[in-house]
Amino acid sequence: MTQLRSVCVFCGSRPGGHPAYADEARALGALIAAEGWRLVYGAGDVGLMGEVARSAQGAGARTLGVIPTHLMAREQGRRDLTTLVITEDMHERKKVMFMNSDAIIVLPGGAGTLDEFFEVLTWRQIGLHRKPIYVLNTNGYWTPLIALVDHVIDQGFAEAPMRSYATVVDDVAALALRLRGALG
Ligand code: AMP
Repeated sequence: MTQLRSVCVFCGSRPGGHPAYADEARALGALIAAEGWRLVYGAGDVGLMGEVARSAQGAGARTLGVIPTHLMAREQGRRDLTTLVITEDMHERKKVMFMNSDAIIVLPGGAGTLDEFFEVLTWRQIGLHRKPIYVLNTNGYWTPLIALVDHVIDQGFAEAPMRSYATVVDDVAALALRLRGALG
């Protein structure tokens, strides 16, 4: 049975409008370190990305950051990670992050986070992977997204199983329980 070793975190490059988003991002970083997992993320030092990574790294987690050359300055790419991969473009970034992860966690974020979420969801839909996807619904932030996925299914544009491809959890404590049992 595969063991959970690396978790990929997709999240905002901004902190968002409620302190709970950063609090939960830090709690996730601490969990990743405490469990001995590696954090795979976008390598930036901004927004929730920065919060997760500083927390994980500060608590001793190994980190793999993946960032395209052109975002090194804008997203303040970190060079002090366990491993830093600099890619040519965004597509390669997502691919490298995905390939090096056993599970995907989606924290609150903007269009970039949505893009990343829908990519792994659609890859799952067409059978390209079976990696677990968790949506951290801090303060109900993703409730409209979940409603949108339900709407897509209700209106016949996706099969019902799509609803089960991503597991929605309310907080990091609930996520911890899921992740510990994720891959056996
Ligand atoms: P955001 O949620 O918009 O703050 O973006 C979160 C992260 O997703 C940032 O590191 C963005 O650079 C990244 N991102 C934005 N668009 C894309 C894309 N098309 N492919 C991969 N990553 C993206």
